[in-house]
Amino acid sequence: MFVNPFLVKIYKGNETILVSLLGGGIQLIPSEISQVLFTNPSLLPERYITHFKDSEILFDNSDRFYNIFNSFKNKSFTKTELEPLNVIFTLTYSCNFSCSYCFQLRQKNPIGDKIISFDFIENAKEIVSQLEAFGNYPKGLSKIYLYGGEPLRNEPHLLKIVDKLLDTFTPSNQIFITTNGYDLNHYKPILERYSNLNIQVTIDGPKFIQDKKRRAKDKGSSFDKILSNLKFVKSLNHNIMIRINVGEDNYLYILDLMNELRDYNIFTDEDLPKHIYLAPVTNRESEEINIAFYKAFIDYYFEYLFRYKIRVSNIRPLDYAIKVAEGETITPSKFYCDAIYGKYIIDPIGNIGICEEAVLNENQFVGNIDKEGKVAIKENPWKDRTVEDMSECINCEYRYMCSGGCPWKASNCTRNYKSAMCDGFKEIFEYSILKLLGEK
Ligand code: SF4
Ligand code: SF4
Repeated sequence: MFVNPFLVKIYKGNETILVSLLGGGIQLIPSEISQVLFTNPSLLPERYITHFKDSEILFDNSDRFYNIFNSFKNKSFTKTELEPLNVIFTLTYSCNFSCSYCFQLRQKNPIGDKIISFDFIENAKEIVSQLEAFGNYPKGLSKIYLYGGEPLRNEPHLLKIVDKLLDTFTPSNQIFITTNGYDLNHYKPILERYSNLNIQVTIDGPKFIQDKKRRAKDKGSSFDKILSNLKFVKSLNHNIMIRINVGEDNYLYILDLMNELRDYNIFTDEDLPKHIYLAPVTNRESEEINIAFYKAFIDYYFEYLFRYKIRVSNIRPLDYAIKVAEGETITPSKFYCDAIYGKYIIDPIGNIGICEEAVLNENQFVGNIDKEGKVAIKENPWKDRTVEDMSECINCEYRYMCSGGCPWKASNCTRNYKSAMCDGFKEIFEYSILKLLGEK
C-alpha cells in the first residue's frame, strides 16, 4: 500500500490531524493510528484502510497515486499558461502621502516626480497588443491597473492621462486603480463618465491611526477627506475595496476601523466586510520573519474577523488552511505569482518590469518602450522558477501550495531568485489549522 505523500501531520493532544494538501480535506485520527499509517499501513484495522482509501490518503500502489496525481497536475499546472495578461501602468512614482512602510522609501528613485508621457498613453492599446503578442496569451488581455506612487493626484497632466486610459480600455477590460483616495474629489467629472471601475483605497485604521500612519504631505490628516470621497465614489456605482495594511502597530484596531466606517454609512452593515481586505505588511528585504506577530494577528483574526469572512492576502498559509478546513480544493501551482507568467509593469519612462514591488530596480526590467510606442522585450528571467526546479523545495510536502515563495524576495535576500523563501509557511499553516480546530 502507498501513503499519499502530500499529507501533513499536526499533533493535537492524543490525536493527529491529517491534512491532505492536494485535493484538500482534514481528518482527525488517534495518534497511534497515524503512526501505523506512516510506518506499516497494512497493519491498520480494516475499517481505517477502507476509510483512508475512500479519502485518497491510502492507495493500493504508487502507480494508482501517480495516475491521479499526474492528471491533477496536468489540469492544474497548465492553468498558468492559460492565464490572461494583466498590464500595470505606473503613472508616476511621486506621491502626496508619506507612509512609513512604503517600499519606495527604501529604493533609489532615479526619475523623481516624472509622470508618464502622454505619447505612451496615446499608444497604450498598441503597446499592450505588442506585449500580448510577445507573451502568447491565448486568453488575451484581462486587467489594466493604474498604479504609482499615487496615480490619482490632483495634477492636470495626470487627470488627462487617467481619462485617456479609461477611455481606451473600458468597457472591454476590467480597470483596477490603486489610490490613497485623497484627491479622488478632483476626479469626479472623470469618474462620473465611467462605471464599474475597481478602486482600491488603503486605510490603515481608525482616524487616529490613519492620520498618524498615512499622512498627507500638505495637511497631515487624511481620514475624513478620504471617507467623504468614498461616499461620492460609491454613489457612482464603482466597486470600492478598502485595503488595510496590517502590522504590529495597528492590527488590534481593525474592528475600530470597521465601526468608524459603519458610522460613515458608505456601506450597509452586511456589505462592509466584503469591501475590506487585510494585507499584513511583508518584509521583502530580509529573510527574517516575525512569527510572533503572525501568530498574534491570526489569534485576533479568528477571534474577531473570521466570522465576517474578511479576506486576508499576503498570508498564503492562513488562506490555504481556511480553504482546506472548509473542504475547498486547493489549486496546486508550481509558480508562486503572476510576476513569473502573467503581467507586465510599465514605468513612467517606459521601462517594462515584471514585479510591481520591484519597479525601481533595473534588475527586473525585461524591456522598454520607445517614443513611438515600439516595444523591445526579452524573456522573463524568472520564467524557469518553478518549485520543481528549486533544490531546497523538491521534497517539501507544501511545495505545490507554497510554490517556493516570492522570487523578488529571494533575489533581494540571497541574490539567487531560485532560493526557497519559506516565510514560515509550515509553522503558520499548522498554527492556523489548530486555531480552526479550536486549539492553539
Ligand atoms: S519555500 Fe520552503 S515551505 Fe515553500 S516549498 Fe520550498 S521548502 Fe517548502
Ligand atoms: S515577485 Fe514577490 S513581490 Fe513581486 S509580484 Fe511576485 S510575490 Fe509580489
